[in-house]
Amino acid sequence: MRKILFLDVDGVLNSVKSCAALGGYPHELTSREGFDWIAIKLLQRLCDSSGVQIVMSSAWRAWNKPEDFAKAFDLPVIDSTPRLHTKRGEEIQAWLDANDDIEAYVILDDDSDMLDSQQERFIKTNAKEGLTWTDFSKVCALFGESPFSGAARDREWKAREDARKPIAILIGEGAQ
Ligand SMILES: [Mg+2]
Repeated sequence: MRKILFLDVDGVLNSVKSCAALGGYPHELTSREGFDWIAIKLLQRLCDSSGVQIVMSSAWRAWNKPEDFAKAFDLPVIDSTPRLHTKRGEEIQAWLDANDDIEAYVILDDDSDMLDSQQERFIKTNAKEGLTWTDFSKVCALFGESPFSGAARDREWKAREDARKPIAILIGEGAQ
């Protein structure tokens, strides 16, 4: 039984905030610097720790294959929803209807065109902020996970920092 996150791009993995900070919105997956990597790394952490797999529901799937998203974001993207040119919720439902081994799913999107039956599994982001910590925590809760489950990737910087600290500081941190 699989756990699936239906993932949007614009307004989730980029935002007004990232646009202002980074100088624009990305329009291609190769524009790596244009994405909100804090958001992407939170999703990496969830997928690593919980086995959640990702199905793209974003308009970006019209010109990118699932394996392209997987490579660009280093996330377990296994598929995209069918393009029915209707409500996004109906495209998600069509994917769910074609896959009967789904244990749990969550929809992460800044748009609202989901079905009534999907509302309890839908986390709506704010396009100004993209994926916030509060949104991420709600996604984790719907999968029965803690947002602190597992471990962050690429923590070499932390090991380097800890190695430079006087031992007294490390002991003090441990006491907190
Ligand atoms: Mg969007």
